[in-house]
Amino acid sequence: MSCPMVGGCAVFNDKMGAMPSMANIFKKKFCNNDDNFENCARYIVKQATGVAHPSLMPNQNENLDAVIADVKAGKV
Ligand code: SF4
Repeated sequence: MSCPMVGGCAVFNDKMGAMPSMANIFKKKFCNNDDNFENCARYIVKQATGVAHPSLMPNQNENLDAVIADVKAGKV
């Protein structure tokens, strides 16, 4: 099973700007990786808030508690 969010995810659907090589790395490391998609920062934030972060990258796992708080407060 791949990440259940692939259908609406901007990274998976190449909506995050012109960086297809990086997107492909993320897809392999997270989106299509049964053992790792739950470690994706975007997945974690969406699970915690119900909101898809507009710019967070899958490997931006630093300070996720603060990111989640900002999203919940409507600051993102
Ligand atoms: S693993 Fe992360 S980047 Fe990939 S589809 Fe899921 S939420 Fe999006």
